[in-house]
Amino acid sequence: MQEPISWVGARRLLRRLRDIMAAGGSAQARLDQIVRVIAADIVAEVCSIYVMRAGEVLELFATEGLKREAVHRTRLRVGEGLVGDIAAYARPLALADAQHHPKFAFRPETGEEIYHSLVGVPILRDGRVLGVLVVQNRTQRHYTEEEVEILETVAMVLAETLATGELVGASELAPTDGIALLPVRLDGMRINAGIGIGQALLHHRRIAVRRVIAEDPQTELARLETALGELKSALDTMLASADMAHGEHREILETYRMVIGDRGWTRRVREAIQTGLSAEAAVQKVQNDTRARMAQVADPFFRERLGELNELTDRLLLHLGAEDEQPKPAELPDDIVVVARDMGPAELLDYDRAKLRGLVLEEGAPTSHVAIIARALAIPVVGRVRDAFSKIDMLDPLIVDGERGVVFVRPGEDVQQSFSESVRLSAERAASYAAARDLPAVTRDGERVALHLNAGLLIDMPHLHETGADGIGLYRTELPFMMRASFPTVDEQAQIYGRVLDLARGKPVIFRTLDIGGDKGLPYLPDGHEENPAMGWRAIRIGLDRPAMLRQQLRALIRAAAGRPLHIMFPMIAEVAEFDAARAVLKLEYERQVAAGTPPPAELKLGAMLEVPSLVWQLPTLLERVDFVSIGSNDLLQFLFATDRTNPRLADRYDLLSPPVLAMLRRVIADCAARGAAVSLCGEAGSHPLEAMALIGLGLRSLSVSPPAIGPIKMMIRSLAVRPLATYLETLIGLPGHSVRAKLHDYAVDHGIAI
Ligand code: PEP
Ligand code: MG
Repeated sequence: MQEPISWVGARRLLRRLRDIMAAGGSAQARLDQIVRVIAADIVAEVCSIYVMRAGEVLELFATEGLKREAVHRTRLRVGEGLVGDIAAYARPLALADAQHHPKFAFRPETGEEIYHSLVGVPILRDGRVLGVLVVQNRTQRHYTEEEVEILETVAMVLAETLATGELVGASELAPTDGIALLPVRLDGMRINAGIGIGQALLHHRRIAVRRVIAEDPQTELARLETALGELKSALDTMLASADMAHGEHREILETYRMVIGDRGWTRRVREAIQTGLSAEAAVQKVQNDTRARMAQVADPFFRERLGELNELTDRLLLHLGAEDEQPKPAELPDDIVVVARDMGPAELLDYDRAKLRGLVLEEGAPTSHVAIIARALAIPVVGRVRDAFSKIDMLDPLIVDGERGVVFVRPGEDVQQSFSESVRLSAERAASYAAARDLPAVTRDGERVALHLNAGLLIDMPHLHETGADGIGLYRTELPFMMRASFPTVDEQAQIYGRVLDLARGKPVIFRTLDIGGDKGLPYLPDGHEENPAMGWRAIRIGLDRPAMLRQQLRALIRAAAGRPLHIMFPMIAEVAEFDAARAVLKLEYERQVAAGTPPPAELKLGAMLEVPSLVWQLPTLLERVDFVSIGSNDLLQFLFATDRTNPRLADRYDLLSPPVLAMLRRVIADCAARGAAVSLCGEAGSHPLEAMALIGLGLRSLSVSPPAIGPIKMMIRSLAVRPLATYLETLIGLPGHSVRAKLHDYAVDHGIAI
């Protein structure tokens, strides 16, 4: 086969670049030589390299053809001019008539007015733009696709060398003088309040490719084939193993099919090898291109696929001998803010909690389990921060403002100062809540509201006494399971539950049986691929299908109680028959334990979580059997509105403070009141003062909330008169609008209710 001319040309050019890089000399001298060689090779009058400095400023670092005095003087912000445009969109631009492009920004010091055509490509690494490589010609030249490809390959080589600091030192990448550098501010959605200050830790692997340019494409193609083969058999072994270790089976399987089976993908890698890159650099180049292109896509499905693709290509890179650059735990600074595209709860728990100061997510939704865990750990979280990954670099200083949903990257002195001020103010507020610790949660018109805590880890337990809460209204037993590598034994479980009861010092604790599945996978319990995991095999469904697992947990609970009162509730009950089946498992286990000599609990109370709408229509029957009901509004709302609670795109689609939810809750509360049944709510909504106000207005007298919410909710209760609110709520239930949030907010403000 006749090789396309571009491959030969590209290989020759890359070899020259490698020789320049290997020859030593000052970084500037090497950059100058690089632009000269590229210009000559591509037959262009101009070749320039712009490097991204801190603060999103692109600075001309080297040029062949433009005026020398412009070097280190010409600077463009991202988005400014054609160069800024290439950086902003992370994609190439080839223009025969650049000067008439609306984005053209004339810089007199460069003398570029005589050049008509321009082709530029972003210098990309890890989906981030490190700079822009530009070629210009006097004539109105139409650049070919091959030429753009060659420049992209060259940019890939430059990216690796820029990243290793060989060409531009870290000090040169520091903020420029003479250009006012505002701290970068990224706006997102508030997911958990609080302020966190620390250094960024990007939650994904960084794979360092050391050898970028290769001598012989045939050798590299063979290496690629070998690595693909190795990866394939490694994945096959993993998939075939009995327990599909590491719980990554679904993602791996899908991505594996997508990538290895995708001829387009491997073809692009092979072509990149033909242009002179090593196999690993070629894989990384294609990964970079895909990342940059996909970064513009908002669709969560594609973004998820992209995450999986990255994961697989990272594995392939490791097979090709690239090195994992992720810092080891011991190398991490004391205060870290984790930055992730999205993340499951177990991944967050993998981080050293003593160092974790905040979490920034490109995706993220307030009722996702990672958000709930972060709340339990009192870690401020800002979600839906677009471009967090491309704007934040490893170890960048960050301030996470969970109160306002803002992240400050490399904040200046002024920002830091104002934050010390808000940290002081929130400390003051915390002190006022602490002062209210022993005050009763009683409304102005004398209604007492029981305030319980949501917990799930032993470290949550001290909050019970610090906040003066009445008890633990929801103990999520799955969290310790998620932090382990294998299923805990009955003894291990009993030890945890016993410790929880010890630490509760007689206050009631409601243990919820395992609620795994959905977004809470256990690495050691394969659940198979599910199209709709939130509506899939989870919670009590697993418990009933695997009764041994449920029985073991119940045995552990009965043993842990050791004669003390025991409160248990079952999650995701969809119908009375499920509750009966779960209760039968408990009854059997109880009898066995008592027969075996375990002291029976002083009292055994049994409840169901109301999380599936079908159960609303069977409440009267259910209430004859349960001691209490706990409304799990996180799931209840996602099923009621058919909106995935973890999908950030849908977060605004439904609201607890909307007529249909208020109408449903009014009915549930009335049904319970009619039968004298205890009812509480343990979803996240209860932790927000405005929502809690509405719930109390609807007649609820018990809430279970996250520890930091106890103070604010108690203050709200103490400033509220329930009776007029109840009357007002009646007028809202029939309204046609999407939400009555604004009306309730105004009501609270007008009536001096502390929300
Ligand atoms: C709920 O669904 O409201 C609930 C409390 O359970 P979880 O958030 O753990 O699913
Ligand atoms: Mg739930």
